[in-house]
Formats: sequence, C-alpha cells, structure tokens
Amino acid sequence: MESILALTHTDETGSALSKPSLEAVTAGLVLAAQLKASLTIGIVAADPALAANSLAATCARLLAVSGAAFAEPRYATAAAACEALCRAANATIVLAPGSSRFARVAAGVAHRLNGFIDTHITSLDAATENIEATRWFYRQRIEAVLSRDSRPWFLLLDAGTHAPFTAEAAAATVEQVPVELPEIRTTVTGLRAPQQGTQTIRPDAKLLFVAGAGWTKKQPDGQTHVPEAADLILGFLRHASASLGSSKSLVDQGGEGNSVLPFLTHLNQIGQTGATPRHAKGLSTCCHGEEPHVVGWRFISERRAISLDPNCGWTRGKADVVYVADAFQVIRKLNALLEAGKG
Ligand SMILES: Cc1cc2nc3c(=O)[nH]c(=O)nc-3n(C[C@H](O)[C@H](O)[C@H](O)COP(=O)(O)OP(=O)(O)OC[C@H]3O[C@@H](n4cnc5c(N)ncnc54)[C@H](O)[C@@H]3O)c2cc1C
Repeated sequence: MESILALTHTDETGSALSKPSLEAVTAGLVLAAQLKASLTIGIVAADPALAANSLAATCARLLAVSGAAFAEPRYATAAAACEALCRAANATIVLAPGSSRFARVAAGVAHRLNGFIDTHITSLDAATENIEATRWFYRQRIEAVLSRDSRPWFLLLDAGTHAPFTAEAAAATVEQVPVELPEIRTTVTGLRAPQQGTQTIRPDAKLLFVAGAGWTKKQPDGQTHVPEAADLILGFLRHASASLGSSKSLVDQGGEGNSVLPFLTHLNQIGQTGATPRHAKGLSTCCHGEEPHVVGWRFISERRAISLDPNCGWTRGKADVVYVADAFQVIRKLNALLEAGKG
C-alpha cells in the first residue's frame, strides 16, 4: 500500500500556502482516492497554523515543521524540513510543487532517502495498478508516461497543471515534526525583486498577450509608431493584468540597433526557441502566427489573434477567433473601454 505525502510551503505572506502547494494538495487527494491510499500533507512554515486550518477539509494527516528558520527559502533548512517530513510520513510517493523553494532541494532529499525523482510532472494517473506520471520532453514535443518501482518516488509537479485546493478553513490538528538542523551558513538578508510595474512575465495571469513584430513596422500612413505601440501594450497589460509574450522577430530587433520596445527581452519570447507558458487565454497582436512561434502556444486553451493579414497563420486553423483588423485601433479602443469600466 502506498503512503502519499504532499509537501507544501507558505507563500510570501508567510502564513497562507502558495498556489503551487495547493495544486500539489489537489494532486495528492486525487491520487490517494484512486489508490485508496492514505494522504499526509507536510507543511514547511515559520508558523503553520493558518495553513493547516486551510487544509482541515482534506481530512488528511497534517504534519508540520515550524520555527523562524523555515520562514525564508534556504537550501539547508528546506532540505532538512522536507527530509524530516518524508521520514515522519514514511512516504513512498512524495508530491511536491516545482517551486523554486522545493525544486532546488527535492533531488537532494530524494538522494538522502535513497529514492528517485522525476521533475516537470504535468499529470498523474493511477487508474491501473501502476502510478503513471506524465511529462514533456524536447521542448514540449514528446509526451512521456513514466512509472517506476523505486520508492520513495519524488514527483515535482509543474505549476498550473492542477486546480489549487480550496475549502472553508476550520480548526485542524497538526503534528509537529522535530528537525535536526545542520550548521546554517546562509543568512537571508532580504528580498530583491524587480520594481512593481516592470514585471511583464506573470505565470499566474489568466491571459497571455503576445506582441509581434508588426507593432514596430511601418503602418498604413507610411510611418512607424513605436512609442504609441509601447503605450498601448503596457496600458493593456496594466488593465488586464496579462502576461506579456513576444514573437522572436520582435525581441530579436533589440540586437539589430533598431527602435524596439524597451520592456521586451528574450525571456518574453514564445515558441520553439522560447517559452511554452500555460494560460487560460491568449491574444496575439501584430504577429503572423508562424509554426515556430505557435508551438509555444501548446498550453493556451483559448486563442485569439488580431492581424492585418487575412492569410496569416492564425487564420489557417491556429486560432479560435481571428480579427482581421488594425491592432493599434483595436487595442486603443479596448484600453478606453477597460479604463471606462474601472470608473
Ligand atoms: C529554427 C527557428 C526557430 C524559431 N523560433 C521561434 C520562436 O521560438 N518564437 C517565434 O516567435 N518565432 C520563432 N521563429 C521565427 C518565426 O518563424 C517567425 O519568423 C516569427 O515568429 C515572425 O514574427 P512575427 O509574426 O512577429 O513577425 P512578422 O512575420 O513580421 O509578422 C508581423 C505581422 O504583423 C502584422 N501587422 C503589422 N501591422 C499590424 C497592425 N497594425 N495590426 C495588426 N497586424 C499588423 C503583419 O500583417 C504581419 O502578419 C523561429 C524560426 C526558426 C527558423
């Protein structure tokens, strides 16, 4: 009989569980129900009380490590915490969110427990006797289904692949797990993050907004309108809280000395040689929709595009809806409507 452990940690507030952690809880509940196995949830937090209460409805066994040492992400403390939780739960299957806090310690913890780890897991299934974990290889072109006899088997789950667990909070009983901490050589002195407003890549956003090279091309009046393009794109991102993606042609212009949109980098690039983000919806603008770009849209469920070209790739079956229109006009109008809707 498998013993399943879902590892979780708090978010930047320090008291609520992070969204990827709540996704791991959902994955644990589904797997435990399929296998008719027990589920334990391990919490790593300075004070796990609120997080534990939010998990009361799972009816799972709750274990926690707590104390100031676990407030900040740090390899030595996070690894010691996860190891202690795995040992206390006697886990054979360990599900953990692929967050930066756990991704960097999970392989080390698996090694300490003489276990095995697979990362970037997108789905789990135990309909047959075997547990089958799915992940993608070769830039999301090959989907593999893995199963292993080795135990404990650690599975690091990609964010956005499971619904986050949510339920009414209630008083929960938590078992505290003691942790023997090693010598701590790393002191966390603070957090440095990009200034508010400069962050354009938002993995949690519902909408992906893609800017293509058309924004910097000569428009019907024979002129380029790059500063206006920048205003329109940033305005839309602000109103819609969307994540910003780009075509390769647009981000490559930066290296060619041309006038470009200063907030775009290669990190925004979507496609074969770029990213493959997960969002519920995507809106492509001024982009031709060529195959090397559109392969990066694999995990975008609902796709729309605004292009001047009625023969662009999007109209050839790559988008659900295509507006053959001037994106400058459409986004200008859209921003005005969104602005008015706020008031
Ligand atoms: C090996 C390889 C790997 C590649 N990897 C990637 C990748 O990872 N990602 C990627 O994006 N590309 C990639 N490419 C490049 C890709 O093939 C295309 O060249 C690129 O995506 C084109 O970008 P674009 O559509 O923005 O630009 P363009 O092809 O220049 O298209 C611009 C579009 O904007 C439209 N337009 C102009 N003005 C307006 C307006 N006012 N309103 C509406 N529409 C307007 C035009 O009609 C045109 O359709 C790769 C290519 C190769 C060979």
